[in-house]
Amino acid sequence: MTKTTPPSIITLDGPAASGKSTIGRKLADALGYLFFDTGIMYRAVTWIALQFDMDLRDEDAITELAQNAQIDIHPPSVGDGRACDVIIAGRDVTWEMRSGDVDANVSVVSAYAGVRKALSERQRQIGRRGRIVMVGRDIGTVILPEADLKIYLDASAEERARRRYEEIIARGGQADYDEILNKMIERDRFDSTRAIAPLRPADDAVIIDSDKMNAEQVFERALELCNQDL
Ligand code: C5P
Repeated sequence: MTKTTPPSIITLDGPAASGKSTIGRKLADALGYLFFDTGIMYRAVTWIALQFDMDLRDEDAITELAQNAQIDIHPPSVGDGRACDVIIAGRDVTWEMRSGDVDANVSVVSAYAGVRKALSERQRQIGRRGRIVMVGRDIGTVILPEADLKIYLDASAEERARRRYEEIIARGGQADYDEILNKMIERDRFDSTRAIAPLRPADDAVIIDSDKMNAEQVFERALELCNQDL
């Protein structure tokens, strides 16, 4: 019996907190592939802009920042649940990039054409090397439409907010479920209605609705897709 070769480029898109990073990371580990979370790039640009008190409405300035930002991504140096270390100007910003402030502003930054152009080119270069699981919003539709397997991970806003709430509590933080839910709905609305590269499944994506599935079941389903003839 011949064994199926897993697809070399796997894209994983979906709304906020749909489990893309968790599943993507496990999938990449199982296949021996690189895991690349493109949200990090948009978050990093937003974090720097906030750090320097830049006017987020100044599209030209934010675009220039995206073109020049030095974002270093390394294997995790701490076992605190992170997928990687994100270092900006020598500072570890891995968790700061996940703050409510960045959450609230990242969609504005990521909607700018110049920002998307600058970051997309870097993503494409990395993605085209293959043996990669790339996670984001527009990877299957815009960044790597030639991908061999496209997965779109979905779940209701309520379920995603519940997961995010529990994640924060598990890390010892404080959270308000309703606030998380409202902000998440707002961010998804912004991401899916923007003019350029809006969040949506590619026509040939396999949609996994994870509302009634746990992380292990979603992972098994994704792995099954990798091991079947496409
Ligand atoms: O996935 P994550 O929540 O970290 O993404 C943060 C934000 O970055 C998203 O809400 C979206 O605005 C933007 N993003 C994007 N395109 C991607 C990945 C993320 O616009 N490929």
